[in-house]
Amino acid sequence: MDADQKQRIAANKAAALAKLAAKKKRKSDQAATQPKKPRTADDCDTCGALADAAFRTAFSIQTCNACRRRDPSLDLLNATDAARTYLLPQATLKCLPTLERENPRQPTWTPMRLFLRRHLVEHANRRWGDEAGLEAERRRRAAAKVKRDDAKAKDFFS
Ligand SMILES: [Zn+2]
Repeated sequence: MDADQKQRIAANKAAALAKLAAKKKRKSDQAATQPKKPRTADDCDTCGALADAAFRTAFSIQTCNACRRRDPSLDLLNATDAARTYLLPQATLKCLPTLERENPRQPTWTPMRLFLRRHLVEHANRRWGDEAGLEAERRRRAAAKVKRDDAKAKDFFS
């Protein structure tokens, strides 16, 4: 290989590298100016993944399953737990939006109605003031139940 050949090879290599660099730059310029993929109505508000359709229909909240599990206010509670945990009357629960799920024990039974914890907390605060008020009512009810049970036991043994 003579010096002339060597020089040609080196020149070719430099030209190829310059071309590659230009291509790379074009690509990064494009990425910088191009807007991100636009959000659609089906996207999770938090991460942009596909949102849970049932959740959107029931509560008008755009969230995917993964984000929902990370947010305790988006927990789902059945009617029994909702009433017991937040001491809310049936009349209040009736007014809340629910998500219907097939009964896991018997698919042909009436579907379960599931409540959103966020809504339950909101109504519990309205009714009991705050978490402390709710706790006070829990204690009051527990004490009343002990009194009732005592009275029953007295009747039983007398
Ligand atoms: Zn998400």
